[in-house]
Amino acid sequence: MSDNREFICVVCPVGCTIEAVVEGDELQEIRGQACQRGAAFVREELTDPRRMLTTTVRVRGGALPLVPVRSAAPIPKGLLREAAAHLRGVEVAAPVTEHQVILPDALGTGIDIVASRDVAAASAAEG
Ligand code: SF4
Repeated sequence: MSDNREFICVVCPVGCTIEAVVEGDELQEIRGQACQRGAAFVREELTDPRRMLTTTVRVRGGALPLVPVRSAAPIPKGLLREAAAHLRGVEVAAPVTEHQVILPDALGTGIDIVASRDVAAASAAEG
C-alpha cells in the first residue's frame, strides 16, 4: 500500500517541501523538489536518514571554555543523540584549530567530529 508523505529537503538553504508517494521504503512519485538532489535526499530519508551533528566540547586551558564542533559529514540520524552524549564527556586541550579532529570515527561511523573554529590557549589570549 502506498503512502503520501511530505519531506523538507535539508540539503541546501532553499528547503523545498517535497511531496512523495512511497511504498515501504520505495519512492514511487515525487514533486516539489527544485533540483535532482531532492530526490536523492528523499531516497536517503527512506533508507538511511542522516543529519549533520553540531554541538560543543569542553576546552582545557583555553581562552574560551567550549569549542563548537560538527560532524565532517552527515551521520545516521539514529546516532545523533548518542554521539552528542558521548561528546559531553570529551575535553580537548587548547589551543584548538578550526577543522582539528576532536573525535575520530565517531561511534564507528567512519566520520570524524571536527572543530568549527579556533580557540587559543588562555595564556596566549591574555598576552
Ligand atoms: S531540492 Fe534542491 S533546491 Fe530544493 S532544498 Fe533540496 S537541494 Fe535545495
